Amino acid sequence: MSAPAVPVSPGWALWKLPMRAVVGVLVVEGAAIAVIAGEALAAPPTAGFALAAFVALLSIVHTELATGIERIRRRTAETSYFDLSSVWTFAAALLLPPILASAVIIVVYAHLWQRVWRPAKVPLYRHVYTTATVVLAATAAHTAVERAGGLPGDPTDMAGVLGVCAAVVIYVGVNTVLVAAAIALSSTEGVSVRDLIGRLDDNALEIATLCMGALAAVALQATPGLIVMALPPILVLHRAVLVRQLEEEASTDGKTGLLNAAAWQTQAARAVRRVQRGVGGAAVLILDLDHFKHVNDDYGHLAGDDVLVAVASSLQSVVREQDVVGRFGGEEFVVLLPDLPLGPPGRAELAKVAERLRATVARLDVTVDTADGALTITGLSISVGGATVPADGTALDQVLKAADASLYAAKRAGRNLVRIAGAAEIPVQRTGEASRAATS
Ligand code: GH3
Ligand code: MG
Ligand code: MG
Repeated sequence: MSAPAVPVSPGWALWKLPMRAVVGVLVVEGAAIAVIAGEALAAPPTAGFALAAFVALLSIVHTELATGIERIRRRTAETSYFDLSSVWTFAAALLLPPILASAVIIVVYAHLWQRVWRPAKVPLYRHVYTTATVVLAATAAHTAVERAGGLPGDPTDMAGVLGVCAAVVIYVGVNTVLVAAAIALSSTEGVSVRDLIGRLDDNALEIATLCMGALAAVALQATPGLIVMALPPILVLHRAVLVRQLEEEASTDGKTGLLNAAAWQTQAARAVRRVQRGVGGAAVLILDLDHFKHVNDDYGHLAGDDVLVAVASSLQSVVREQDVVGRFGGEEFVVLLPDLPLGPPGRAELAKVAERLRATVARLDVTVDTADGALTITGLSISVGGATVPADGTALDQVLKAADASLYAAKRAGRNLVRIAGAAEIPVQRTGEASRAATS
């Protein structure tokens, strides 16, 4: 599938969502329009026009200065719905009459669309939805500050301070709930809590941005010129975001999107240390594709790569939510099972997960493009070795060695098998599963 030639058309992508998501998106957008219409019909503001124009201008300058960094961030982010422009939209919400704050938000988001999201090929409907959530969150935040008597103006105004704190919480709450609802409604398969509410770091960043917005609002109210002092820290915040993003990329295997070996080992070592402190048990699995060299020899290395990607995603899809899958190297994968009961029940659960992984790969059909056209590779298989902590070792190296020995036992016993250290052999039902070893 190629990208559309005219980038305006991504708006159509809305209709590809499940009907419940389309309805959800339209309801939220309708609510934002109703709120803006209500604000427009209320008594028109008599002041604040110049301040609104100034805040919108600051946001545009901010985006222009940061565009390069921001574009990279959005292209590489998994879920990039957090945005530093909320410094300005939040400041506008606290400082201005609601209709002017909504006008600032619309100007800021129209400019961001033009400079950041459209070039990054984000679908238009998603951007419009984000704009609607920001309008609703800003209106709710404004109400909190208004109820507390407006922005704090004198040194003893504790109600004003609490109002601003409440506004941050309300803004984050409204935004998070609406974004999570859109993700949940659009998803056709199960989504984790992390998918819904985003990473801890992203949420911390959003809160830091809003705190900056609150300070910007107070500065703008007192002496607008002070706002120049906010621009350098905001740009440094952008760089901090980029560094975090690059750190994340450094721990990811570029081919499969799984954790790379070093990052996986860091997590596994942490799980082993937890067991040493007496918190339950844990286990590791090492998985090695059988006769993978034949796949490369028969279909080419690019087809081999497609198989690795398909195997990685199928492994990821059948482990338990808390399990951590990594690419160990070449055609070898590792799985960390951090929460297991101690002793035989833990080993039995490990064997169950391992067997599920083996059976999933045995059923896998991978369609690949080759020089002779598209073809489907079947008959793949994987051998699996497992070991548990603390029974097979209390240091990660020891446990990996034990799992590797089990893997070689599985290979020696004929491949497409699971072997768990310290467990009786598990008979494997191979009926109906073509073994590559047999067919190649
Ligand atoms: P066994 O059942 O004993 O594991 O046989 P095998 O052929 O899988 O094992 P061997 O270690 O002999 O070969 C592994 C092959 O995996 C060799 C290498 O070309 C291939 N391989 C390793 N990494 C990649 C990769 O990133 N992409 C592709 N396409 N192939 C890879
Ligand atoms: Mg190997
Ligand atoms: Mg192999």
